[in-house]
Amino acid sequence: RNSMTNVFHRTLNSTPPNAIGGQGVYLFDNQGNKYLDASGGAAISCLGHQNPIVVDAIKEQAGKLAYAHTGFFSNEPAERLAEMLVERAPEGIGKVFFVSGGSEAIESALKLARQYFWDRGEPARHKIIARRQSYHGNTLGALSVGGNEWRRLKFEPFLMDVGRISPCYAYRYQMDGESAEAYGRRAADELESTIQDMEQGTVAAFVAETVVGATAGAVTPVPGYFKRIREICDRYGILLILDEVMCGVGRTGTWFACEQEGVVPDMITIAKGLAAGYQPIGALLVAEKIYEKIKSTSGFFQHNFSFMGHPIACAAGVATLNVIEKKELLNNVQVRGKELMKNLADRFQDAPNVGDIRGRGLFQAIEFVSDRVTKLPIDAKLQFAANLKRVAFKRGLICYPMAGTIDGQRGDHVLLAPPFIVTRDEIDNIVDVLGDAVDEVVQELGLVK
Ligand code: PLP
Repeated sequence: RNSMTNVFHRTLNSTPPNAIGGQGVYLFDNQGNKYLDASGGAAISCLGHQNPIVVDAIKEQAGKLAYAHTGFFSNEPAERLAEMLVERAPEGIGKVFFVSGGSEAIESALKLARQYFWDRGEPARHKIIARRQSYHGNTLGALSVGGNEWRRLKFEPFLMDVGRISPCYAYRYQMDGESAEAYGRRAADELESTIQDMEQGTVAAFVAETVVGATAGAVTPVPGYFKRIREICDRYGILLILDEVMCGVGRTGTWFACEQEGVVPDMITIAKGLAAGYQPIGALLVAEKIYEKIKSTSGFFQHNFSFMGHPIACAAGVATLNVIEKKELLNNVQVRGKELMKNLADRFQDAPNVGDIRGRGLFQAIEFVSDRVTKLPIDAKLQFAANLKRVAFKRGLICYPMAGTIDGQRGDHVLLAPPFIVTRDEIDNIVDVLGDAVDEVVQELGLVK
């Protein structure tokens, strides 16, 4: 028995330090260390730590009403948060189904898509198509649609059959001489050929992250890609579900990442930044037409959770959106995002192991390679990403490195998603420490030529 802990931690052979406090973009542990939280954990802490407005909103709500079952009651924070989200969402989105995290939001989206077609009298429609190199969560439905091979492997026998297309990943798959638009069209057209390969009238929905997060590292779609995807979905009568659990709620500089693509999905999932990490909450935003169909047929969505619409979580969400707006943080995301991009480009311009720097707003990533010209990945055995995480952490920087960028096996990247309150100096600091950490790992692994 490990006498140090009874917690079933993420890794079983080491116990992480206890985090005991936070302030702004910094976190503190019980061993006297201070960390600059350059990834907001996993793109969660968008307001940094100890935001007084959010903390007060939570206290106030806990003092009034902590819980009332949604089978009996609605509550003011849930009503208000839904209203605020719909006001900011793309046209056509009219309702919000609250849950407690990203995986629950995706499960809800899949089941709602299924029920929608059931209620419409199209019971044959049940298949989902999604993309390789995506992540939609760890519950079984979400893991089934996710295209992260490494995460799926052990659980494959549990997973449902999902159609699979390539990601829109220009750095790897746009061909020489091919325009971004032409590449986007080619990538999107895989959806059409996959639908055609499936039995007619059986596909219910296509699911994709608007900007790919953890699995491939801030991979932005090329212009026109999602417009084409929308057209194909419409042509075949299937629903478009955009997963913005990581890239939503302002992370890319607009409330929803899909605003920048000029498309309106039928459902959007959000979570992580929705209450800035102060409370666990996620949400499924739903097109009015889906809601109306279910209202006029079944009359209820056959799916619920004990903690859905939790008053304290929703109060934290309301406060988070208010802070983002009052402090004009979407603007800060755009401005600081540009600075981050420029600083990274300057710092790594001569770095032979930096292949690509990409992303949008305060959602950016570096893809590492062993050779810039051939884009050959670093030998997976060297565990570049794991080493970078360790070295950066030791240097007081929290970032989000991940391996398997290309296909679940090959490739390494690091994701950066600092809080929206980050200052210019802090951006400089992030890039300095990350640069030193990358240099150290490159040295340590003998990658220098
Ligand atoms: N979808 C995306 C795009 C994510 O990045 C994540 C988490 O990283 C999830 C879904 C799952 O969210 P959660 O961990 O809150 O269940």
